[in-house]
Amino acid sequence: MALAYAPALESTPVRIAARYDHFIGGRWVPSSSGQTFATVNPATEEELAQVAVGTPEDVERAVAAAREAYERYWRPMRPADRAKFVYRIARAITERSRELAVLETMDGGKPIKESRDFDVVQAAAHFFYYAGWADKLRYAIHGSEHPEPVGVVGSIIPWNFPLLMAAWKIAPAIACGNTIVLKPAETTPLTALLLAEICEEAELPPGVVNILTGDGRTGAALVAHPGIDKIAFTGSTEVGKIIQKTVAGTRKRMTLELGGKAANIVFADAPLDQAIEGVVTGIYFNQGHVCCAGSRLLVQESVHDEVVDKLKARIETLRLGDPLDKNTDIGAINSAAQHAKISELVQSGVAEGAVLYQQSCALPARGFFHRASFFTGVSQSHRIAREEIFGPVLSIMTFRTADEAIEKANNTPYGLSAGVWTDKGSKSMYVAQRLQAGVVWCSTFNQFDPSSPFGGYRESGFGREGGVAGLHPYLSV
Ligand code: ADP
Repeated sequence: MALAYAPALESTPVRIAARYDHFIGGRWVPSSSGQTFATVNPATEEELAQVAVGTPEDVERAVAAAREAYERYWRPMRPADRAKFVYRIARAITERSRELAVLETMDGGKPIKESRDFDVVQAAAHFFYYAGWADKLRYAIHGSEHPEPVGVVGSIIPWNFPLLMAAWKIAPAIACGNTIVLKPAETTPLTALLLAEICEEAELPPGVVNILTGDGRTGAALVAHPGIDKIAFTGSTEVGKIIQKTVAGTRKRMTLELGGKAANIVFADAPLDQAIEGVVTGIYFNQGHVCCAGSRLLVQESVHDEVVDKLKARIETLRLGDPLDKNTDIGAINSAAQHAKISELVQSGVAEGAVLYQQSCALPARGFFHRASFFTGVSQSHRIAREEIFGPVLSIMTFRTADEAIEKANNTPYGLSAGVWTDKGSKSMYVAQRLQAGVVWCSTFNQFDPSSPFGGYRESGFGREGGVAGLHPYLSV
């Protein structure tokens, strides 16, 4: 019998304003249209704040501010001085970590233990890491003594790791001497705006970092603006393709980090209890709102039933509920629209003949929640095996030989990540070398470090973020 947990609610030391403007040229500027939109807490469905709608005129102003900052302050500054600003931002993130974690959880629905122990920690680590590079850029590209910044970066990020994605874009861009206009996702703008406040406190020269809020239309105006030198986009493959079409034929540089449908491969000789933990982390971390989630479990046929039994038992112990409770494992789905998309794909799995298992807990009365789920009896042709669900839903398939596992794992238009679980080192290497994925985790999953590059193949996009490779898109030689 599972023990009952007493509630362990995180206090909410964060002050949320009723209305937020854009952060342009170091000032808080309302939308040129005067319009705002609501951002809601997906765990309660309550409105948290009204946020400015970014119009093409706002994009114009933000790009002009970024250009001026680039020419006037940021590019001419000594790299060692630039580094000091980046360090200041990193330190301020750690100082305000609790506030950032709580706000991330309230605006996005992820469990507080994840925003506290993963998102905020990684965001600070990215700024610390790239601060260290700012005055060492001549070692970043082999044979290039004087790499130059690219100019003004336009960056568009998704709602699954709002603060962390902002850090992934801003830290390398400004450490290399570029300035940036960043558009957070429409459902999760608040931590990027708090980061803008942090930039203000760090006395970053005005216009080096500009935050513009809005939906896809604001993003599209930013992508199309002729004053942008480089686009850095993380989001769906569908929108990535639209952006690629807009940018084609221009001189703009581009990196795209898109969707995924990663295989997590479990061999019969793997330590199964550990592998189950990796499978759970792989798919249920952040409610499965993870582009590199291990959403296809390929399990060797001889241990299929054992793995399924263990997984059934394990998902019963996952605690679903209030994301602000420190014991919560599964928080809220980010939005009503995403909840509907997950439900539709789950229904398609049932209709196509796969067998659905879900944890049996009750769902909270309000908010967008989805039980941890998995399907057995999945075939490669099912939609749940091919399409990205971006929710807490795992599709289980079997294999007999390593080569069959590799073939099935690679049978996807995506190629962002993969996992391999086996007791044999040589087998991990054999399989890892043949998997067409940007990252392959062996006997672990979802491990991140700012020094380690991340990015995709094929429809998962191109370009790398993190590490030395993550500097290259922001430098010209
Ligand atoms: P998701 O499915 O993760 O929401 P999207 O690709 O729809 O992914 O959204 C990721 C980001 O792209 C968001 O900030 C969104 O506002 C923005 N976006 C959506 N459509 C466009 C577009 N046509 N051009 C530029 N940005 C867009």
